[in-house]
Amino acid sequence: MSGRALLVGAGPGDPELLTLKAVRAIAAADVILVDALVDRGALAHARPDARIVDVGKRGGGRSTSQAFIERLLVREARAGRTVVRLKGGDPCVFGRGGEECDALRAAGIAVEIVPGITAGIAAPAAIGVPVTDRRHAPGVAFVTGQVQVGGAEPDWAALARSGLTLVIYMGVERCAAIVARLLAAGLAPATPAAAIEQAHTPRQREHLTTLAQLPADLARLGIGAPAILVIGEVVRAAAALAAGEAAPAPGPARLGAPSGWRPLARTDDELCKRSRQRRRLGCVQGIGNPRVTGAA
Ligand code: SAH
Repeated sequence: MSGRALLVGAGPGDPELLTLKAVRAIAAADVILVDALVDRGALAHARPDARIVDVGKRGGGRSTSQAFIERLLVREARAGRTVVRLKGGDPCVFGRGGEECDALRAAGIAVEIVPGITAGIAAPAAIGVPVTDRRHAPGVAFVTGQVQVGGAEPDWAALARSGLTLVIYMGVERCAAIVARLLAAGLAPATPAAAIEQAHTPRQREHLTTLAQLPADLARLGIGAPAILVIGEVVRAAAALAAGEAAPAPGPARLGAPSGWRPLARTDDELCKRSRQRRRLGCVQGIGNPRVTGAA
């Protein structure tokens, strides 16, 4: 008897941003292969007897090979089990979900995709930035800042001219090179820019600045992965929110208070509440078998 496989998005961090469908899939799983970026609170929904395999890399450590993950998915599903592949954000946005789907389908196993809230939408939302706004940006481009093995680099010059909001995943490391290309292609140095680190977690930090200052600011503030970079006029909404103003009318305007860390959406009370909740969940992290000892 063949089991089934589900590629499930866990959202950006906060377990409350799991979809109901994701919760149901986690609760139905015999085996869960979980990535490092997934908040362990999501595993509170797993059955006590579910096998949880941590296949992510953390802090630059070793990760499980993609080939091993795909073999494990196929083997467990073939053994008649319900296998959940749990990934941060959406499983198919920079998540290798497509490759895993191909491997499962090639093995004749039915795959269901349960979409999740991707960081590129969730992180801007965390600081009050709409990724599209008909007054400022006719669309949004989700791009990777990493040069992909076997893949092409985004056409930064075309993106600079596109008028789209640019939402860059995995962009911190190569930020200086990316910004240089955008500026060379004519994007204004004063274009508003934001970096959001660990959005929707108790460790969230954010910074508002301009395109030209972004690389130096990230280095000065020590902003690291996982972080989302947002470049475009829509970022003014966050500045306006921080200043307690209504969103400014379109047109040239100065970005308000662009320097320094300013928690926009998290009060200390809120942070304390969240870490209490996480402790209550009894989340255990780490490679091996990160069982969750409490119930939500
Ligand atoms: N599938 C994921 C993306 C995986 S790629 C999704 O849909 O969100 C990993 C990158 O996603 C990170 O380097 C970072 O750029 C971004 N990311 C993931 N979670 C994040 C978070 N909570 N806050 C900010 N960026 C995040």
